Amino acid sequence: MKVYIDNAATTKPSRAVIDTMVSCMSEYYGNPSSLYSIGQEANMALQSARERVAALLGCQSSEIYFTSGGSEADNQAIISAAAIGEKKKKKHIISTAFEHHAVLHTLKKLEKQGFEITLLDVHENGLITAQEVENAIREDTCLVTVMFANNEIGTIQPISEIGEVCRKKGVLFHTDAVQAVGHIEVNAASQNFDLLSLSAHKFHGPKGVGVLYAKKGIFLTNLIEGGAQERGKRAGTENLPAIMGMVTALEQAVSGLSDNAVRIKKLREKLIDGLSEISHCALNGDREQRLPGNVNFCFEGIEGESLLLLLDQKGISASSGSACTSGSLDPSHVLLAIGRPHEVAHGSLRLTLSEENTEEEVDYVVQSVKEVVSYLRGISPVWRDLQNGKRKYVI
Ligand SMILES: *Cc1c(COP(=O)(O)O)cnc(C)c1O
Repeated sequence: MKVYIDNAATTKPSRAVIDTMVSCMSEYYGNPSSLYSIGQEANMALQSARERVAALLGCQSSEIYFTSGGSEADNQAIISAAAIGEKKKKKHIISTAFEHHAVLHTLKKLEKQGFEITLLDVHENGLITAQEVENAIREDTCLVTVMFANNEIGTIQPISEIGEVCRKKGVLFHTDAVQAVGHIEVNAASQNFDLLSLSAHKFHGPKGVGVLYAKKGIFLTNLIEGGAQERGKRAGTENLPAIMGMVTALEQAVSGLSDNAVRIKKLREKLIDGLSEISHCALNGDREQRLPGNVNFCFEGIEGESLLLLLDQKGISASSGSACTSGSLDPSHVLLAIGRPHEVAHGSLRLTLSEENTEEEVDYVVQSVKEVVSYLRGISPVWRDLQNGKRKYVI
């Protein structure tokens, strides 16, 4: 059996997305900046895509900027807010210890340029509170950036409440909503964020395309200089097939959102219940405040990489953390941030469901993980020490 259960890393583009992109490539090959009709037809398709995205996000089309994905949107949002702050001599930024590296590495760069960064501690359940954000805000704070939902452990932060605190204090609020959009309700009109990043390939759209939402009046800093595309804020001929594919994916995701969430959550609960039968394991992240499709476990006495390789041999594509950190042997910064010790953080497994997964697949995955964990523990000297009392169990 082949089971793709790593939908937080990327998703399979839907048939409708592929069809939209293929027909766009032959119908709208003109350059949207050209003045003749072939160009203007492409431009109209581009503007219509912008309006459709805006309608789905509850904002105006002039607040939508197309980017090359989530990473670029995160970079541009944060660098823009920092530049606005710097003009007012406000050089303090608040974020959390378990953001995506697109956020954390951008903040590191700003730190080298003289910004002061406060990374809030995340509770054991993978959540922070609006009160904690409020307590950290200072006179010189220019930006709060907190992810909507975490890509490893799936926890959903109180975004509206954090946004409300930021509004009250006059601080810009950015949220990396790459894991949230298309999976849970995201709305600019009701959720109090000023800047938001999303990426198409996390909701069955194509890779290499995303959106930066910036509330009216926020002056963006260019990351790429050149032509006047995206109202002068993001140069480069627009990737229209990808943009149109993204809109198709977003419309499908939003219209199916509540039904899919119910179905996927049922699979998630089955998966969590099944895996919980394994001894000395623990679910990472709050059980309730999490994405419908996210399951993340730590297993004591297990090395995550070996677990993945053996699951792959059984046809299961899973992850031990974010795709960006797999390949390195450092334990996940997210699991360390919620207080898992190094040795346990190494033994983690992330399974992320989509509406395409089935109950049979979940049964197969539970059975396979049980077999593989038991096999690996059987050959592990660490597990032997734990069992004969030379080491203490952590979980
Ligand atoms: C995938 C992801 C990103 C990066 O998006 P890309 O489109 O791959 O650049 C950023 N943040 C989060 C939370 C993600 O899951």
